[in-house]
Order: sequence, then structure tokens, then C-alpha cells
Amino acid sequence: MKKMSSAQVRQMFLDFFKTKGHTIEPSASLIPQNDPTLLWINSGVATLKKYFDGEVIPKNPRLTSAQKSIRTNDIENVGRTARHQTFFEMLGNFSVGDYFKDEAIAWAWELMTSPKWFDFDPEKLYITVYPKDTTAYDLWIKQGVSPDHIFKDEDNFWDIGVGPSGPDSEIFFDRGQENNDVAENDPENYPGGENARYLEIWNIVFSQFNHLPDGRFVDQPHKNIDTGMGLERIVSVIQDAPTNFETDLFMPIIQATEKLSANKHYAANLEDDVAFKIIADHARAVTFAIGDGAIPSNEGRGYVLRRLIRRAALNGQKLGINHEFLYQLVPVVGKIMESYYPEILQQKDFIQKVIRSEEERFAKTLSEGLDLLNEEIAQVKANNSAVLSGQAAFRLFDTYGFPYELTVEYAQEQGLSVDKDAFNAEMEKQKTRARQARGHQQSMGSQDKLLMSIKTPSKFVGYDRFSSDQCTLKNIIAHDQAVDQIAEGSAQLIFNQTPFYAEMGGQVADVGVIKDSNGEIVAQVDDVQHAPNGQNLHFVTVQAPLTINEQYHLEIDETFRKKVRRNHTATHLLDQALRNVLGPHTHQAGSLVEPDYLRFDFTSLEKVTAQQLAQIEQIVNEQIWKEIPVETIETDLDSAKKMGAIALFDDKYGDQVRVVKIGDFSLELCGGTHVTNTAEIGLFKITAEASTGAGVRRITAVTSQEAWQYYEDQMSTLTAVKEQLKTAQTKDIPAKVEQINTELKTTQRQLDNLQSKLVQQQAGNILDQVEQVGQWSLTAAIAPVKDMKELRQIADDWKNKNNSDILVLGAKNDAKANLLVAVDEKAITAGITAGNLIKQIAPKINGGGGGRDQLAQAGGKNPAGLQDAIQAAKKLLN
Ligand code: ATP
Ligand code: MG
Repeated sequence: MKKMSSAQVRQMFLDFFKTKGHTIEPSASLIPQNDPTLLWINSGVATLKKYFDGEVIPKNPRLTSAQKSIRTNDIENVGRTARHQTFFEMLGNFSVGDYFKDEAIAWAWELMTSPKWFDFDPEKLYITVYPKDTTAYDLWIKQGVSPDHIFKDEDNFWDIGVGPSGPDSEIFFDRGQENNDVAENDPENYPGGENARYLEIWNIVFSQFNHLPDGRFVDQPHKNIDTGMGLERIVSVIQDAPTNFETDLFMPIIQATEKLSANKHYAANLEDDVAFKIIADHARAVTFAIGDGAIPSNEGRGYVLRRLIRRAALNGQKLGINHEFLYQLVPVVGKIMESYYPEILQQKDFIQKVIRSEEERFAKTLSEGLDLLNEEIAQVKANNSAVLSGQAAFRLFDTYGFPYELTVEYAQEQGLSVDKDAFNAEMEKQKTRARQARGHQQSMGSQDKLLMSIKTPSKFVGYDRFSSDQCTLKNIIAHDQAVDQIAEGSAQLIFNQTPFYAEMGGQVADVGVIKDSNGEIVAQVDDVQHAPNGQNLHFVTVQAPLTINEQYHLEIDETFRKKVRRNHTATHLLDQALRNVLGPHTHQAGSLVEPDYLRFDFTSLEKVTAQQLAQIEQIVNEQIWKEIPVETIETDLDSAKKMGAIALFDDKYGDQVRVVKIGDFSLELCGGTHVTNTAEIGLFKITAEASTGAGVRRITAVTSQEAWQYYEDQMSTLTAVKEQLKTAQTKDIPAKVEQINTELKTTQRQLDNLQSKLVQQQAGNILDQVEQVGQWSLTAAIAPVKDMKELRQIADDWKNKNNSDILVLGAKNDAKANLLVAVDEKAITAGITAGNLIKQIAPKINGGGGGRDQLAQAGGKNPAGLQDAIQAAKKLLN
């Protein structure tokens, strides 16, 4: 085995597969694109689903990548096992309907054992196969693997429900019995068992079946290879490290953490080591996630980030680091990963800012959480219990980020235990809720054999044309069948060329008509999508017969397209204006270009202020008024990047890309359709700015006719207001409104005065009505007042007036009822206290209360019971 740095290992893996004809795919964003079934990219194949399910056929069917991955379900393993992180890189090679088991196994073995490559001792490697997969077994034997190094395991079948599935084969590294945590003869002591000796480093999936909804497994039209090797694990083996952490991928982070802590050192004791490892892992995870545009928040990805940052902060405290520190590890992470991920150091300031403000926020939350915990503990003690409820522990965990263990620790210090079962039950409930929220969307579609087999070339000619005469009909698909002719109903069509734009990059598809050589409409085009091999597939409603190999006239709806392209170019202007105003870190997080409006999502820590919005609007409109010609340049991806073009849609681009250039203002990679001059956009107006959750803001805007219409609507509202206000001019409205407001305030004040006079008067009346109940003089009434404050005012008057021994007052306010009882010294001496009395009558208003001997009050939810309460008081006094 060679000594290599992690950067060299990553590169060697990719280089090896390059020599085997693979294209190196860059590591895609951790945030899944157009995939609502995943919260995070969790493997190499997760970014390649559209190839694997046949939706798109890649130019080169052999791909290889080092893919950033996050697996939150491994969070509890971090620091406890040698081999898990939340963030890791997965090295993989992929075949999309190209090579299969033969090459996959031969190459895996060559890479692992050849002296030219990783150069592992074959004796140290173990293989597992699916018992029924004798092909894989034989192929490993053919490589020279000895039979006693191959294990059959029923678990080696990769199946995620409906969709692609198949057997897999794993490679384990034998770290020796001296590194084991179970005995030599333990039944778990085999590759794939629960042990520390045999480390799974590589999993090779032979994706050959389609798992149907009815439970059957049928052969896939395209058989695929999907492999995953954890970079950290292979590096730990190559660098002879006891766990993934004692490698050059983590040690600099751990050392930097040691420096931040006053007195703790790595490898001194096991518990501290766990904390060091958790911090190192979480530092990497949050750095990369924020770099890819995630922002801490209370839901989804943002919530995961929040938890990771808080967990790291709490582990910092265990190491005696009692201040914000995680953000200081960002440059260390950036430096380690610089060779393959230079963008981390480039974005370091922004990433640090986000982490630091989240750490500060947590410090505040933590003290609030502690207050709540202390309250809960006091409550438990007051109830003479010794158990803190699982619900309370969960609330602390969920809202304040208190790990369960921390709550247990605090509770124990106070002599309490925590109801663990109830806590787990709450946790389970939350997981179910999250699962349900994600829905039952299918993770991968099924391969469409027919569409995948159609290879006829089709050219899009619609960038500068709205119609085309020479469109030969090449394929007709009706009812999932290829046909030569169709007379009616719906069908899908492919032409050798077409002016119809297929939905892509947020821009909607064109609509329009298909005409025959006589100019008659033969079909209506309702939608256009890309077929797996890239052709524009027209979804049409047929009105007259269409025949294969005939020429047709294709005509898009010009008005529709013109509106769409205005909005598309405006989107580019908006994107750049946002960057100018909010900062270069602003990430585009989704975009929709419709004829009537455009929608643009982007990551932002805070709300965009009204002032910033106005500024953004002005910048965009200025570009429109400058009448800038819009140019498009066809070039290769590298040249485009050198020009400084930004990728608006985080999509895979082909070798040839289009760059859309708007003067010196904007330069973006984009395959969409655009105006020829910004002046065509006419006018730009933002109509809404809102949060879509998880740190993503959404701007909705309109252009040209819709923008004018927007202003028109505002104007007609103003006109209506003018009429109501009886002002002649719009500019007079604010003054007029101010005047009305002042008048209203004065009137309100007068009304309040009158009302309180009324109360006084009525109170006077009430206090004059003294009746004799048994030996006591009593004043009792329902007062026409709103609240307790006014009742107390009457009670004060009663005390001054001193004309009865006992006062019982009620008041109602909507659905609420108030009671007040006051007694004089004479009554108290005789044993009648206000507190006692009110306790006995408050149930009549479905309420409770209490107070001092002299004065007590109660609130309840049953105003209808006020009279009963007074009657009850009389009865008691009698
Ligand atoms: P394990 O059983 O060790 O958790 P797995 O079966 O979940 O592994 P796969 O889903 O087959 O792993 O992923 C392929 C490879 O990715 C694994 O062989 C391993 O090298 C790596 N890997 C998986 N999960 C993690 C993780 N949490 N941290 C680091 N590497 C991982
Ligand atoms: Mg796992």
C-alpha cells in the first residue's frame, strides 16, 4: 500500500476511471436539484438519477465522481464509530447502460490491488456477494480472490422500493483482530457483521431490475453500475489511522480545536475525543452545506444545519470552549479541501458570518432554554414528582436544541430523572411527521424503453425564429407505441428540427400549432419536453392525419414567446441586480419564467428591505432604458467560465454551452430564449418578496404589459381612494388621510371620556343599591364595564363610600367573565374573607381566582353564570 494524501487518493480514483474511458463529473451541490424526495445529496448516484431512470441519456455512459454527501441518519454514529460522518465524500464509477459486472469487478480489483494504483495486499481484502448472484461470485474468483475471502450475504441487495434495484457486492478491509471490538470467535466477527475489524470501504451495485409497484422485479432495458467508496474510509486505511478522523482530512481541524480549548487534548480520554470528532465532522458539514446555499432555519435543511451547529457548540462547551468558535474552523476546512473545492476559501467570509451569527443566536436560546428547564424542574418538584416528562425534554430538544443527554444531566443534578420512553415516542412522532411532509413521491422513475431507443437527431431552430417550414416528422408515439401515422387524439412527436422550445431551466415550453403544406392546422402543441436523448418531444392534440417523413410547418404562439423572453431576460437582470445590492454570495435557488410573470428564489439570511427592493427595481429598469443589445455566444464550458459567466441554473451543461451577455452588466450560461435588446422588456416591477422557508426568499415580478397593468391597477385603487376622500389630486391624499386620522383620534378621545363618565355614573348607581342579606349589608351587581381594571375602580369608590360590608361585582366582556369581591374589616373579623368567598362562587363562571382577605378577583369563560355567582354569594352569606 502506498502512502498518499487524501487529495492524492481522490485524484487517483478519478484518474483510474478516466483511463477506463469515464468522464469526470464535478461534485454536484449538496442541495438536490429538482428532487423533492431528498433533503440532501447522500451518494454519488443521487445526483445521477435522471441518467439511471432513463429520463436523460448522457453523452458518455461512463461517469466517475467524488461527490459531497450528507447523511443525517448517521449523526448519532459520529465520533462513536470509526467510520461514520454526517458529511463525507463518495468516490464512485457509474455505467449507464454500458459495461456491467465483468468490468465493474475487474476494475475494482485492479484499482485496489495493482501496484500502479492503490496497491493493497489482496490478503487484507474481503468480498461479500448476494447468494443468488453466482455471476458476481465467479467474477471475483476469476480475479484471483480466494474463496475463503468471499462471503455470501442476503443483505447484499439494493432496493429502495419502486424503481431500479439489484444485487450488490461489497469490499471490506481487514484491520486485524488487534483492532477489533469483539472476540475472534464472536458470531458477528465476519465482513458485514457488527465489528470494528472488517471495514466496509466500497459497495458496487449491479442495478439490473425494475422493482414494479405490484412487487415484481423485471429486467431493466438499461443495466447500470453504481459504486460508492467513502473517501475518508479508504484514506484511513491508506494512512493507517485507527478511525477516519486520524487522517489529513480531519487532524488539522482537531488540532485547531485543541488550540481553542484551554486544557483539553485529543487522544487523552475517550469522551473528549468524541467531542473533538463531532466538532470536526460538523465543522465540515456546515461549511460545505452553507457554501452550497443552505441557511440555518427552523425547517428542512435549515433545521439540520441549526442542529449541527448547536451540537458542535455544546460539544465545544464540553471541551471548555465557552464562546463562539465553530466559525473559526471554516478556513481550516477550506485549506484542507482547497485542491478539489477551491470555492470554500473563496466564500469563507460569508460562511463564517452565517455560522457565527447562528452560534450567537444559540447562546441566547440556550439561556432561555435553561430558564424553561429550571421552570419545568420547579414544577415537577412542586408536584412532588421525581420525573421530568418526556414531552418537556422533547420541547427543549426541538425548540432550544438541547440534546437529550444535556437535559438528563441537568435533571440529575436536581435529583430528577427523565421519562425516556415518552421522549423517544415524541421523537418518533416528529420523524413520522417529517416523512409524511416529504410525501410518497417516487424517488426514481422507470426507464421508458421506447423513448430511450429513439436516437433521431432533432435541432432546435427557435432562438431567432417563430416558425419553420422544413420540419420533417420523424417519430410519432401514440399510446406508448411507435406508429407511422395518426389521425386523432393525443400523441408525442419528434421532428428533425423545430422552433418549439422545450421546458428547461425554469422557462416554460412554447405552445403553438402544426400546419400541413396547405396551411391547414393538423395539430395543437400543448407542451414540449426533452426526450431522453435530448430531442424536443411535442405533446400534441391531433386534428387531422399526420404521417411520418412528411414535412410540416411548425408555428409557435408569437405573443406567448415574446412575453416569456422578456421575463427571461429580466430574470438575468434581476439576478445581477440582487448580487449588486445584497452581495455576491446571493445564491440562485430556483427560477420560473412564465409569460405573465417571473419568479426568482435565492438564499438570503434576512428579508430584503423595501429600500433594497426599490434599489433592485431601479437597477433593472436602468438596464432596460439603456437599450442594451443582448448577445448570445456559443462556446465550450471552460471558455465560458474563463469569460466569467455564472451558471444561473445549477444544472449539468453539455460540452457546448450558450452564454447570454447583456452588455457589461450580466453574463450567464443559459439555454433559454431572450429579447434582442433590453428595451423590449419595456418596464420591470417587483410585485412580491416573501420567504419560502429555510432561508430562501422569493421575488415575483412582472414586465411590459403586466407591469403596466400592475401600475394601472394601483392607479385605479388610488382613484377610488381619491373619490372616497373627496380630494382632487393624488398628491393631496397623504395630507387628507393625516387630517382624517387626527380627527378620528380626537373623536375617539371624546368617546372614551364620555364612556368613563358613564361608568362612574352607573357605578354610583350600583353603590346606592345596598341590600340586607342575613346579618350583612351587601352591594351586588353586574357592572356595565369592560374589564377588571374598571371593576377595581368601582371597588375603590365603594371603599370610600363605606356604605356596605360586602361587595360582589361581575362584568362581562365577549366570551369572558370577571368577578370581584371586596369585604370590610367587620366581615373579616367574623371570618368572611374575599379570597374564600370568590373561590366558592367562581365555578359558576367556569373560572377560578383568589386574592387577599380584603379583595379578590376571578376570571372565567361563562358570562351567563354571573347572575348565578351573585346568587351563590347571597346564599352563602345567609
Ligand atoms: P455502513 O454500513 O458502514 O454505514 P452503508 O452500507 O451505509 O455503510 P453505502 O450506502 O453502501 O454504505 O455507501 C457506500 C460507501 O459510502 C460505504 O462503503 C462507505 O465507504 C461510505 N459511507 C457510507 N456512509 C458513510 C458515512 N456516514 N460516513 C462516511 N462514509 C460513509
Ligand atoms: Mg450506513
